[in-house]
Amino acid sequence: MKETRDNLYQLMVCPKCGKPYRGAPAISRDNTRLICPDCGTREALEGLGLSQEEQEHILGNIHRYQEEQE
Ligand SMILES: [Zn+2]
Repeated sequence: MKETRDNLYQLMVCPKCGKPYRGAPAISRDNTRLICPDCGTREALEGLGLSQEEQEHILGNIHRYQEEQE
């Protein structure tokens, strides 16, 4: 699979977690980087003072919810 077509949702690699993702990126809290939606959520939760564990728990719930929507 060498040929990839450029489209609106081309695969991007998140500079924060290094994972590829599709879709609209989030902007990091310091406004300098485009990061994946998961990291965007993580940073937002971190800003609320939630622990790493709580962040992962909430992300897990978000992913479950997204899967149910598909
Ligand atoms: Zn990321």
